Amino acid sequence: MRSYEIAVVQGDGIGPEVCGAAIEVLKATPVSNCLRFVEYPAGAGHYRATGDAFPRETMEGCRKADAILHGAAGLPEVTFPDGTEAGIDFGLRLRFGLDLYANVRPIKLRPGVTSVLHGRKPGDIDYIVLRENTEGLYAARGAGVSLRGEMAVDSLVVTRKGTERIVRKAFELARARNGAPGDGKRRVTCCDKANVLRTYAFFRRVFDEVADEYPDIERDYAYADAMTVHMVERPERYDVIVTENMFGDIISDLAAATVGGMGMSPSAELGDRNGFFQAAHGSAPTIAGKDIANPYGTILSAASMLDWLAERHADEGLRGAARAVERAVDAAIAAEAGRTRDLGGSASTREATRRVIDALGAAQ
Ligand code: ATP
Repeated sequence: MRSYEIAVVQGDGIGPEVCGAAIEVLKATPVSNCLRFVEYPAGAGHYRATGDAFPRETMEGCRKADAILHGAAGLPEVTFPDGTEAGIDFGLRLRFGLDLYANVRPIKLRPGVTSVLHGRKPGDIDYIVLRENTEGLYAARGAGVSLRGEMAVDSLVVTRKGTERIVRKAFELARARNGAPGDGKRRVTCCDKANVLRTYAFFRRVFDEVADEYPDIERDYAYADAMTVHMVERPERYDVIVTENMFGDIISDLAAATVGGMGMSPSAELGDRNGFFQAAHGSAPTIAGKDIANPYGTILSAASMLDWLAERHADEGLRGAARAVERAVDAAIAAEAGRTRDLGGSASTREATRRVIDALGAAQ
């Protein structure tokens, strides 16, 4: 039986709580014997203690592992001398260092979760925000210019190679799905500001070139500002949305708010060799250490880690375990007692985790 090494970085704030929950759940699956967890430090707490937010050994450990599982990192008050947050260096440098160019953020209204959008039921909202993860405005991280306290400039980077590969990924994802819930059509929406900036006009041009290779999938366009309106007014129209790094960061938070909030939002950051899995939320320091954080987003991210490993290694056991974890999450949330405070319930992080593990046990 093949075994997989999982690099674990717990991080800051609620990071250790939600990451611990995901590991407990993974250890309760039938594939637990195949998973070997190796912990590494990184984040704001580590920076405060050592002056290093992302040690070299952590980068090397993540690089050689079969997959990386993370809680969340960063604390607003722990900053570098230039004023930027130290802890988020981990996620950002990992993306660039391992070329994790595709950030897949599934937006799905699950049974038992009430949407803030009026009248939307489970099944009505089910799309993916595919965020380009290594270029765009965030490519300028650490390389912008701040001049004499008078001005600052960051550059927006869009390359042909970076755009082709993320758009291709979007169409491949759409091909593997069942289409938008509203009309069943497989559709990829290009979200940009092609009307204002050359970078985005270029992104759209490359999108069109790649779209020509996928005549079976509908192509669609939305400006980023209008996109925020569409996501609220007619989310059932969307299937896969592909967009630049910063736009993806922003619209995926809005999207998460329509399906139960940040705690319900998983995320996978994928390159050709490495995969990094964490919930889409940050370290939420105001609720840290209180056993009230919603662990489901991180648990669902762990399920997508199993899926990704299953695909890479043609390992059907892992695929089965991924489905089982998703079903167990749905079973846990279906009962009011399994809902955390952000979902309108009163379950603690530990209770919610216990319910997922119980549901996994009942299904075996
Ligand atoms: P970052 O910029 O690092 O992504 P952020 O500033 O977007 O972080 P988050 O830490 O994601 O902020 O928190 C946003 C809001 O969502 C906060 O009100 C936080 O308490 C809430 N939140 C985030 N994650 C969870 C969770 N797992 N459970 C419950 N509430 C959460």
